[in-house]
Amino acid sequence: MAYKITDDCIKCGACAAACPVEAISEGDDKFEIDADKCIDCGSCADGCPVECITEG
Ligand code: SF4
Repeated sequence: MAYKITDDCIKCGACAAACPVEAISEGDDKFEIDADKCIDCGSCADGCPVECITEG
């Protein structure tokens, strides 16, 4: 299961910088995680200031 970003995202970009496989990109209202690229490492969730990244 890939990680997901909820609507609480403030678009700070911290997650995109933390992702080792560049699975995170900026969407219209929030950042988004490409489930096909995500390797479930959790690096993005650890660095999110508003804890809006959830597993599964
Ligand atoms: Fe990238 Fe890891 Fe977050 Fe998946 S869990 S989006 S691989 S940082």
